[in-house]
Amino acid sequence: MLLNMLPRVIATSSRQALSYNLDLLSRRAGVPLLVPIKANAYGHGIEQVAEVLAEHPSVWGVGVATPQEALQATPLFREHAKPVLLFGPPDVSEIDKLMRAKVHFSLTDLSELELLPDHAQVHLKVDTGMNRLGVRAEDAVELGRTLAAHGMLAGIYSHFSSADDPNTSYSHEQFQKFSEVLYALAPELIKVRAHIHMANSVGVLNYGSWLSQLSPGVTLARPGLAAYGYAPRDQELLMPVMTVEARINLLRTVYAGETVGYGRLWQAEQDTTVAVVGMGYADGWPRNVTGKASVSVAGEQRPVLGRVCMDQCMVDVTGLDVQVGDFVTMWGPYSHAGLVAQWADVSPYEILTGVGHRVERRLGP
Ligand SMILES: *Cc1c(COP(=O)(O)O)cnc(C)c1O
Repeated sequence: MLLNMLPRVIATSSRQALSYNLDLLSRRAGVPLLVPIKANAYGHGIEQVAEVLAEHPSVWGVGVATPQEALQATPLFREHAKPVLLFGPPDVSEIDKLMRAKVHFSLTDLSELELLPDHAQVHLKVDTGMNRLGVRAEDAVELGRTLAAHGMLAGIYSHFSSADDPNTSYSHEQFQKFSEVLYALAPELIKVRAHIHMANSVGVLNYGSWLSQLSPGVTLARPGLAAYGYAPRDQELLMPVMTVEARINLLRTVYAGETVGYGRLWQAEQDTTVAVVGMGYADGWPRNVTGKASVSVAGEQRPVLGRVCMDQCMVDVTGLDVQVGDFVTMWGPYSHAGLVAQWADVSPYEILTGVGHRVERRLGP
């Protein structure tokens, strides 16, 4: 077996799962989607995910965080004429390139207005209480009018800070603030048919009924995490998109009384067959799962032994029919990244975006 002919770790995105989530979210939101593909499409691989998004009828366009991501994304969506919206501030040195690539800009602060050329397509970001990016609601109306007058107003949006909080009062305040801006700008927004968007994943899942009350109405929703199959409360509605498989590099017997790995955190009570699996924390398998994690080997959940290393981890495969070169499922549709996140005491966002550079991305059925 020539091991180096095989990839060490493969992250495969399911075309079917992604399409299913997009259909579901677009139906829930009642509008097409602007799907965030920042951070290498939440770790799934921007090119792999783009193959599905570019052709999916419920996808209006995609969102990215940085100019570099925008320039990477535009060629993947050009043929389908789907816009790429840059959420983050434009970078002065990149504006010409971004203009040529027809990227949609966000106006995230008053100071950016003079940077943007006259015919730029701009989505005005209104801060309604997140206090991250966005102009204050008090300034938004005048700015919106200025943009509209220059033929630059392509959209307007805001962002919930806590749409997963069971106490919805803060979200409601944000909604009200945004609502007032939209009402004041209604003539301009309607005239230029500007896009209006506010909901992220939890916003779509929790606030569908409110969002339909905005006037002029929302035209897009921006679910990221849920498109990839994860949500804090409605997990059972969604299909996790990513499956991560790692190769067994070595099988060894560890005798009763011996220990495994750094810090000797696991000791064999009886003779144990241990698989050395080629995924470690540098690949995104969290170091902090000692004593909690299991992975799927030949159809069974088996415990990870001791501390996770940088490039490897050890798994108890006693009694299983496995060979060097076989692949172990680290997470997938059944034992999913949400569980890994719980074991590691982090969010699913961090598990997905933490999948490392050395991991090969694929698109599967
Ligand atoms: C990342 C991002 C989203 C998506 O958030 P999720 O919680 O993943 O749904 C939506 N809007 C903006 C502006 C973002 O940056």
